[in-house]
Amino acid sequence: MTKKSEELLLKTADVIIENKDYLTELDSAIGDGDHGINMARGFKKLKDKLKADNFSNRSELFKVVAMTLISNVGGASGPLYGTAFLNITKVIPDNELNIDQLIEIFEQAVAGIQKRGKAEAGEKTMLDTIIPALESLKKSKEQGEDLNTALNNCLNAAERGMKNTIDMQATKGRASYLGERSIGHQDPGATSSYLIIKTFIEGCLQ
Ligand code: ADP
Ligand code: MG
Repeated sequence: MTKKSEELLLKTADVIIENKDYLTELDSAIGDGDHGINMARGFKKLKDKLKADNFSNRSELFKVVAMTLISNVGGASGPLYGTAFLNITKVIPDNELNIDQLIEIFEQAVAGIQKRGKAEAGEKTMLDTIIPALESLKKSKEQGEDLNTALNNCLNAAERGMKNTIDMQATKGRASYLGERSIGHQDPGATSSYLIIKTFIEGCLQ
């Protein structure tokens, strides 16, 4: 039942590990240069756990994802991603996802990140990728788009959101210490969020 989700999580882990240096480079410009290291450490541990354990449903699987990221990523991003995945366990169904369920999943992720980090859209964080992705899904639902179109639009919105962080000034997290000097650099957390969303969406597109 959880096989496809497990495969997607393993793929996500590989993508994060492949992008370790890139994420670290982005974090060196406006942070302390550990985002790639933090994320690769957490996702490497997740790969080990996924290979060692069996899961009877997706909620149980995502709980392990949450706990593994909270315990192993560290930095600001570990607890933020961990809480996002923990919130997702409340709503993730075991069947094929429809647009309403996708919206719920993204809403829970945003709520978890905001509960911990108290950031809003436009503060140059991972939320600037995830909130536009959520807004795009809501718009797709309103317009009655089919699931593949909605997923493609969601991916494009996430990418635009990530790129829009370049022109933003950071007002949350370590990058905010730089004030105006944070402008002109893409946010590392917005970038890792895009990589995660991209891997999941590409895995779901039929
Ligand atoms: P640290 O800043 O502790 O070194 P990381 O480098 O792992 O942690 O993660 C930095 C990323 O965390 C940032 O690029 C940003 O996207 C995200 N981030 C930091 N603070 C917040 C917050 N309050 N809300 C949402 N995301 C945040
Ligand atoms: Mg850092």
